[in-house]
Amino acid sequence: MTRRLWNWCRNGSLWQLPKPLVILILVVVAASILVSSATAMLVPVGSDDLVRFGVLLGCSWLAIELTRHIERKREYWRSPTSGYIDTKSVWSFAAVIVLPPLLASLMVVLTYSLAWWRIKPHARPGLPHRWIFSCATVLCGTQAAVVVLDVGMAGYPGAPGAASLEGLADFGVIAAAGVLRWAINLGLVMVAIALASPTARARDLFSNIGEQVLEAGALGLGLVTAAVVVNNPFVLPGVVVAMVALHRGLLVHQYQQASRFDAKTGLTTAKWWHEYADQALAQARSRGRTMGLLIIDLDHFKAINDTYGHPFGDRVLRSVATELLAEVRDEDACGRWGGEEFVVALPDVGDERNVLRVAERIRRRIQAVVLEPPGRDDPAETTTITASVGGAIFPSAGINTLDELLLSADTALYAAKNAGRNTVRMTRASTPAMPEQRTRALPAEPPTSAG
Ligand code: GH3
Ligand code: MG
Ligand code: MG
Repeated sequence: MTRRLWNWCRNGSLWQLPKPLVILILVVVAASILVSSATAMLVPVGSDDLVRFGVLLGCSWLAIELTRHIERKREYWRSPTSGYIDTKSVWSFAAVIVLPPLLASLMVVLTYSLAWWRIKPHARPGLPHRWIFSCATVLCGTQAAVVVLDVGMAGYPGAPGAASLEGLADFGVIAAAGVLRWAINLGLVMVAIALASPTARARDLFSNIGEQVLEAGALGLGLVTAAVVVNNPFVLPGVVVAMVALHRGLLVHQYQQASRFDAKTGLTTAKWWHEYADQALAQARSRGRTMGLLIIDLDHFKAINDTYGHPFGDRVLRSVATELLAEVRDEDACGRWGGEEFVVALPDVGDERNVLRVAERIRRRIQAVVLEPPGRDDPAETTTITASVGGAIFPSAGINTLDELLLSADTALYAAKNAGRNTVRMTRASTPAMPEQRTRALPAEPPTSAG
């Protein structure tokens, strides 16, 4: 572990990060060591403290052990613009309430080390700095909590008072300490993420703000644990069971939800889109309704990557996805089909003319997006992107299944590309073509790839 850490410091990913971020990480780590040393001797460590410390550490180890498979998945799938929330704070927050600061700090470091060792995020390169930074921010937050508790609590360190007035006052102080710890931790992590992903927008940074509920729950459970470990440690396994059960229930659901969405664009993944579209088609069939389908492929997207770089290409994909979602109805499903291809299912779309209308609106909307490439000399320099769209509709002759509908739209897309790109094509022409010159329907039977 030490050798691995040393190798990482010398050759590793830390030095490849943006300079301001490296400075922030080093400053926060140094500050965490300094403030932890400053509070360490505030309260001497007694033998009772060591027993409680051992009990809390044992419980945290057990909880990490029982949840590590889920945590490994969460860590793996976490987007680069979101902080990592977990339930380790149950133990470290309980520790800061009932144990001397030295042991509270040690609890933070040991729970992080245990989790690192058992969850094994090091299978993924480039992560140690995140974990070390995250541990340092919690240490800083912990010392701030120590100061609040030391000043405010009647019997710090220890469980909240049991008498009504004293208990209520202690609860207020502990709540303030918890909020301060949380705010310091979250604030520093947000700054680091903003420095690491300069292109991330504020909305991306707050995209997993719902996960903060988990952190609030962990702090609340930490308070319960503090009272239990002082008054009756034998009840602690109940806390572990409750925590693991809630964690699994909550996170498995969250993980399943997250797996439906493509991390880069926020659209549904191809698999989930296929399932949704299949159901929509079955409903259309049973109710005698229609369903439209569009495949949208960005034109010359490779050139965007080659000219401005892959990260900019990713931003373009996100922008296109945002435009797609803005253009369609709630019941329409937009998915990322792969690479720079998108699919849209349009249940109950009416006739073929409507499919063409939607396709044309999407084409124009994508064309109108003004993109600002990075690193340009002239800030006024912008670029644009276009898309070719292939459409199909159910019912049509020879189209009964989703795959046939997809094939039909794909054939139309191919025709749109052949026709010079930035255009819409459909495989049936039972209705007149759109008046706009760029939009034409293909001959009805058989589907042809000729524009
Ligand atoms: P055409 O007009 O014929 O569609 O040309 P194109 O360049 O868009 O088509 P091609 O299939 O040759 O290239 C697709 C490119 O999309 C190549 C690949 O690098 C890029 N791409 C695929 N997935 C991603 C991604 O997730 N992010 C980025 N930035 N690029 C991607
Ligand atoms: Mg393509
Ligand atoms: Mg393309």
